[in-house]
Amino acid sequence: MIYEHGLLVTMDAQRRVITDGALAVRDGRFVAVDKALALRERFPAEPRTHLRGKVVTPGLINTHVHLAQAMIRGCADDLELLDWLGKRVWVLQGNYTEQDGRASAELCILEMLKSGTTAFVESMLAERYGFDGIANVVLESGIRAALSKIVMDMGTYATKDDWMHPGMVEDRDTSLKNTLAMHEKWQGAGGGRLAVWFGPRTPGGVTPDLYREISRLARERNMGITVHLAEVQADRVYLRERYGQSPAAFAEDVGLVGPNVLLVHTVWMDADDIRILARTSTNVAHNPVSNAKLASGIAPIAEMVAAGVNVTLGTDGGPSNNTYDLVRDMRWASYLQKARMLDPKVTPAEAVLEMATIRGAQALGWDKEIGSLEVGKQADFVVFDLDKPHLTPSRDPVSTVVYAATGADVDTVVIAGKVIMQNRQVLTMDEERILHEAQERAEAVWKRAGVEHRPYWPVL
Ligand SMILES: [Zn+2]
Repeated sequence: MIYEHGLLVTMDAQRRVITDGALAVRDGRFVAVDKALALRERFPAEPRTHLRGKVVTPGLINTHVHLAQAMIRGCADDLELLDWLGKRVWVLQGNYTEQDGRASAELCILEMLKSGTTAFVESMLAERYGFDGIANVVLESGIRAALSKIVMDMGTYATKDDWMHPGMVEDRDTSLKNTLAMHEKWQGAGGGRLAVWFGPRTPGGVTPDLYREISRLARERNMGITVHLAEVQADRVYLRERYGQSPAAFAEDVGLVGPNVLLVHTVWMDADDIRILARTSTNVAHNPVSNAKLASGIAPIAEMVAAGVNVTLGTDGGPSNNTYDLVRDMRWASYLQKARMLDPKVTPAEAVLEMATIRGAQALGWDKEIGSLEVGKQADFVVFDLDKPHLTPSRDPVSTVVYAATGADVDTVVIAGKVIMQNRQVLTMDEERILHEAQERAEAVWKRAGVEHRPYWPVL
């Protein structure tokens, strides 16, 4: 199949942008990326799709997602993090069945596909969500994912004992053993679209000894690790008081650094922390909207990028964002840095699009396969329709996509050469059934959990 006459933002090594470009796809991979005219001559008889007036980018990569939180979207607005977790999020998630876990994953993946995300990292799947059911949703939907399974040995959050809902507590041996079992079973499934990682809880839920064991097993089996670190200031204080270390020094001490590690949030990091991340080639998942909404702070990503850290972009979850639309979050990644540093030149649109594509691919260990429109790579790309008032005029496609577009402007999604969404219709999922089921199951979870939640204003 040839996709022609589009404006291609390739994200290749030279960062070429090709006007009146074309992509040739065969057996799921790009076999040519060039001017439309050149491909006309090379492939005169192939079937063609026209992309006139449209911008094509690599599929977006969301490096921090909680699938189970899609169905509890909006459950804990305007609360402190500890109440947010201990009184709402964990209580609701602690009442999930495996069918709820599957339904929330469907809702979340449907939303991501409809906003241009073609690969993601799920950071913490609990035993009770049902790993197999969620892995099957990933495979059937056509998306790519690293699914990280929770590992933990303490039911606490930093200094708060008994703060975790009993439904969310798992023990060391079971959580470790089952992560390895899921890795055996699912790693590489779907033609390489699925990976299984370790998703240990934050310091406080995991002992240093268990982190070291996870680090050793991950190296031995070539697995990724993702962990929340220094999301709020209290996390930094906790590590200092408990272990006498800064967040990155602690992470290095327990083996949570390196190219196979993705640290999430890293808001409360100083210059020494940043040097450790750069020296160890550790990846970072920046979640600007979640950090802003929970008043956690603004991560120093401009400094991290300058130091050579691989910074990527995530949305986080339904109660902290409250959407999984990575396109909407791209502008936040840029604007918050400018506001923090009082400098409009920092974190330009180009740097943000790198975070959402090629840098995300690197964090997944898949940068040889995805993240740019290049010959030999998997054909993962998304098409933005610019024929709209808020995207007109467009003089620079990168500016338009990062600063003006939303996920709703994506009209076509292709993953591994397969058309997953066409004219905003997702071909691999039953949208009507998924929305209906999520609504019903969400009501049932609230009831079962016994959590009271009403809008703040009187509803007549
Ligand atoms: Zn998170």
